[in-house]
Parts: sequence; structure tokens; C-alpha cells
Amino acid sequence: MAIERTLSIIKPDGVEKNVIGKIIARFEEEGLTPVGIRMMHLAQHEAEGFYAVHKERPFFGELVEFMTRGPVVVMALEGEDAVAKNREIMGATNPAEAAENTLRKLYASSIGENTVHGSDSAENAAIEIKYFFSDVQLFSRG
Ligand code: UDP
Repeated sequence: MAIERTLSIIKPDGVEKNVIGKIIARFEEEGLTPVGIRMMHLAQHEAEGFYAVHKERPFFGELVEFMTRGPVVVMALEGEDAVAKNREIMGATNPAEAAENTLRKLYASSIGENTVHGSDSAENAAIEIKYFFSDVQLFSRG
């Protein structure tokens, strides 16, 4: 399998619950290595831009409000099959439907406040990583 990169965000609820360390440890244990990490408080236009694909959805306003209510931890993760592996570790969007031991099952409280973001394709991962990181902020561990 190919070595890929994916974008992960620990959302404001995950930061508030003090599980940054547990989430990063889980990624490392499962072979997803952080190659870039930023803690930041998203501005409204940054959250809107990141989730632009959802701008016509009824939950868009709430999603932007949630994503800007406190700091987040943005990470580029590298590893074999990183996009799919991260989605598997995260679990379903709605924590009520997430499999046992996934991050969303363990930590998320609702479909909106679901603790983690993960890119849904290699193509989007490349776009999302560029949204937050310049080349010199990424450290390949190859
Ligand atoms: N979301 C929401 N209500 C919904 C669906 C999604 O608030 O009915 C939020 C939720 O935070 C989710 C994000 O919008 O993680 C992006 O939705 P998507 O369907 O892309 O899910 P994901 O890829 O994050 O699992």
C-alpha cells in the first residue's frame, strides 16, 4: 500500500475535553505519524473556507460557529493508506452510529460536535493540507 498524507483536525470539543494527547497517541499507535501540527483558533472566514463544500447545507452556520468557538489542533498525518485509515479510526460522522473504540464513539457528543475531522479522499487531503500548511511546515518522516 502507498504512503499517503491526510488532514486531521481535533475540533474545539476535543480540545475542551482534554483528549489531544489521547487522540495523537492513537494515531501514532495505528501507524499515522504527525508530519505537521498547528494549534490555532480559526477565524470565521477560515472555517467558512474550509467547509465551503457544505455552504448550502442547513447545518453550515452552526458548523462554522462550533468550529470557531475555541482552538483546534490541525495535523497532517502520514502513513500507509492514511486517508482510509484515519476515517476508520474516526468512525461514522454521527457518534451514535460509530463503531466501538473509534474516536467519535469514545469522545463525540453529537453529529455536529464530533471531535475530529479527516479528509475523505487523497485529492481533498492534498487541498486541505495546503489550506493550513506551507511546505516548510511539513516534516516527512519517510
Ligand atoms: N455536520 C453536522 N450535521 C450534519 C452533518 C454534518 O453538523 O447533519 C457537521 C459535522 O461536524 C461533520 C461536518 O459537518 O463532521 C462535515 O460533514 P461530513 O458529512 O463531511 O462528515 P465527516 O466527513 O466529517 O464525517
